[in-house]
Amino acid sequence: MASPESVTDPLTEEDNLSKELANLEKQFAEKKVQQKEYELLSKQLTERIQRVESQAYLLAGKDESIARRLRLRNYNDPAVQQITSQFLKTGGQPLQPDFGADRIPRYRVLDTILVEQETLQKMRDIGMVTGTLYERIVSCPTCGAPSNVYQHFKCPQCNSIDITINRMFEHLQCGTIHPENLFRVGQNLICPTCKKMLQKTDEYRMIGIVCSCKNCNSHFGDPAQSYYCRRCKSEFGLASAQVVDVFSYSMSKAILSEARQFIGVNALTTLLTENGYVVKTPGTITGPSKEVVFSLIAQKDARSIAVDVAQSDTEVGVEPVLDMFVKVLEASPTVAILATIPSLSKQAREVADMHKIVVSVGATPIELAAKVLEIVKSA
Ligand SMILES: [Zn+2]
Ligand SMILES: [Zn+2]
Ligand SMILES: [Zn+2]
Repeated sequence: MASPESVTDPLTEEDNLSKELANLEKQFAEKKVQQKEYELLSKQLTERIQRVESQAYLLAGKDESIARRLRLRNYNDPAVQQITSQFLKTGGQPLQPDFGADRIPRYRVLDTILVEQETLQKMRDIGMVTGTLYERIVSCPTCGAPSNVYQHFKCPQCNSIDITINRMFEHLQCGTIHPENLFRVGQNLICPTCKKMLQKTDEYRMIGIVCSCKNCNSHFGDPAQSYYCRRCKSEFGLASAQVVDVFSYSMSKAILSEARQFIGVNALTTLLTENGYVVKTPGTITGPSKEVVFSLIAQKDARSIAVDVAQSDTEVGVEPVLDMFVKVLEASPTVAILATIPSLSKQAREVADMHKIVVSVGATPIELAAKVLEIVKSA
C-alpha cells in the first residue's frame, strides 16, 4: 500500500513527528490531555518515528543525500562523537573487536569506552564507516546470544557426545597406521609396530581421524555436529543457528574530513545557547538557487550567524575558506564565521582576508567557542 509517508522525505517526516510528540508532551504537562489518551498517542507517535527512521536508514544505502543528512545528525550523538574521535586519532585505521567472556564483540574507543557493534553498523548504513568481515559467531536461535553456545561432536549412531576423537598416524618408514594414542609413550612417539622412536615430524603423517563412541562402541570417521545452548538447554544445527558476522571498521579520508568539520560544533552550540542564541546544527539557509548547509546557524533578534567549523591534524588549508566564500554568496547570513582548529595556514589566512571572510582560530574546541562568541557579540 502506498502511504503518503513513503512519498514524503523520511527525515522531514521524522522531524514533523518529533515536533508532534513534543507538542503532545507539552499538552499533557499542562493537563490538556488525559493520561490514557496521552499514553496511546505517544506510543503511536514513537512507533511512527522509529518506522520512518529505519526507513531513512534503508534509503541511505541508495541515496547519498539522505546518508549525508543522517551523518550530519549523527555527529551530534555523543557515542558517534567518541567513535569519530577515535578514528580522527588513528587516521581512520581499522577498529577491531574485543570478545569478552560472553563472546559478544565490543569495540574499544579512546582507550576506555566499549561500543557495541550495533552502533557501528548504524554508522556503516549511512556511510560513516566501512566494515570488513573479521569473524563469524554462532548464536542461539532461542536467546539470540553466542555466550552459552557450545559445539557438539556426536556419535552418528546414538547421538552421545561421549566420544573419543583419535588422530590416525602413519609411520612412513614401516607404513603402518595406528591411532595417535598408541604412538604416545610419555612425551615421545614410538611406532607400536617397529618400535622406532619418531623424532622428526617428517617421519610420520596424520592421515585423518577415527572416532569411537564410549556409549555404543561404534567407530566412525566423521562425528555428527551440532550446537548446544546451555542457557536455553536447546540443541540446534547450522540450518537454524543465527550466524552473526562480526566486522572490523575503518573510516575513509572523505568522512574523516567531513567529521572534522562537525566535531567541535558541540562546544559552540553549548556556549551560544547559554548566551541566548537559538542554535541549529547543522544549520540550513535557503538561498535564491539552493539550500546551503553550515556547521551551525545561531539566531537572535532576527540576526542569523552562520558558522562553519573546520578541523585539521595540523593546520586548516585554503579549501574551507573558499567553501565558505561560495556559501556566503548564496546564503547571505548577517554574520559568517569560519571557525578553525587548531590553526590556519598562512595562505588560507590571505585568501580569507582577500574575500573578507571572518576567521576564528582556536587550539581547542572550547577556546574556539569563546573566540567565536566574542566575534558574534561585537559584530
Ligand atoms: Zn540460548
Ligand atoms: Zn613403524
Ligand atoms: Zn554411540
